[in-house]
Amino acid sequence: MKEIILAFQGEMALKGLNRATFESTLMKTLRRRLEHLGEFKVYKAQSTMYVEPLDEFADMDGAYDKVCKTFGLASVCRAAVSEKSFEAICNAAEEYLGSALRASRTFKVEARRADKTFPMKSPEIARELGAFLLSKHPHLRVDVKNPQIIVYVEVRDFGAYIHGPKEPGAGGLPVSTSGRAITMLSGGIDSPVAAWMMAKRGLSLHHIHFASPPYTSERAKLKVQSLGQLLCDYTGNTNLYVVPYTEPQVYIRDNAPDVLFTVLMRRSMLRITKMVADRIGCDGIVTGESLAQVASQTLKALACTDQAQSLPILRPLLGMDKTEIVDIARRIGTFETSIMPYEDCCTIFTPPHPKTRPTLEEILAAEEKMTGLAELEAKAAEEAEKIHLRVGDIPPLAAI
Ligand code: ATP
Ligand code: MG
Repeated sequence: MKEIILAFQGEMALKGLNRATFESTLMKTLRRRLEHLGEFKVYKAQSTMYVEPLDEFADMDGAYDKVCKTFGLASVCRAAVSEKSFEAICNAAEEYLGSALRASRTFKVEARRADKTFPMKSPEIARELGAFLLSKHPHLRVDVKNPQIIVYVEVRDFGAYIHGPKEPGAGGLPVSTSGRAITMLSGGIDSPVAAWMMAKRGLSLHHIHFASPPYTSERAKLKVQSLGQLLCDYTGNTNLYVVPYTEPQVYIRDNAPDVLFTVLMRRSMLRITKMVADRIGCDGIVTGESLAQVASQTLKALACTDQAQSLPILRPLLGMDKTEIVDIARRIGTFETSIMPYEDCCTIFTPPHPKTRPTLEEILAAEEKMTGLAELEAKAAEEAEKIHLRVGDIPPLAAI
């Protein structure tokens, strides 16, 4: 029996004149993400995306998983494809959902006839198919209000489709329809979740990571690479820029008051991020900051970091509790990697009592004295190593 994946649009359907652009971006994204899983044809009709395997070697389980993780889709299901005759529909429904019906006590059929040339109307299809399935499974009872299983039949232009319940899709908007930004990706729990949330709103993302060897290890870098790789299922292919940050960081430690160190360092990281962002055409910076989580995330400290450069800083976790962030991290599959031990450049050299209410005046005064910092920052931005992360690659940490 031929099986297909049907994916139904979400918010995108409300996009008026721009809808066609959103749809074609989504189809391109789907095609690219399925490339390594076999031959698939991706097309659309009536707000529905069709993902059709072209031979028996196509990996349908892998494809379904990828489609479920693609932003822009409200719901997804696998369906049996049938010829558009009532007899073929009955046989397909029995073959496809027979075992599920055997395991249920109550059911109903919902039919939708999008192809108005089909001779039976929707209520008639539902009634007659219901009667056919009852004849095959006499233990069943029809329950229109609260059935254990619903058999859906959709008679559409290219064929008839039979499926069980739809699953929720990833929601949001197709990646890259909202522009491009760069995520400051640490190895922690928060920043991968922040990246996922902004990709969900249609941003195409690259990532930047600050490494300070020998204070931070090669393994810490691999961990971030692995997180970026896990995010590829949602973001699509992306680049990770790894900034050699030791020199600027040591310079700040040695040339500024230690109570201001964290905010000065964060401003410095943002300036470097802006330089890389400009070079690769990113119009915003995403971080995993959450209000008051740590000293550098108080309102006063954030106000100081905001002033370091001119790109908008997107902080989707700002109003979220750690438990809410952890829930998402688990759901998107980054949590287990995030909790592996590692050292982050943000946690080295941190003073025991950082100032939680720094003023911009004192920060600017401290920066004025660090006359050699700008050059070190420019050099670090220049030397950022570019690592390609691709959909379908195996996360590097899994092999260790
Ligand atoms: P996370 O769990 O994402 O590491 P955090 O709660 O540990 O966040 P901080 O260490 O203060 O918070 O970092 C705040 C944000 O700064 C991070 O969410 C991330 O966006 C960015 N950041 C921190 N360290 C790095 C790094 N080494 N490279 C790039 N960005 C970083
Ligand atoms: Mg961190």
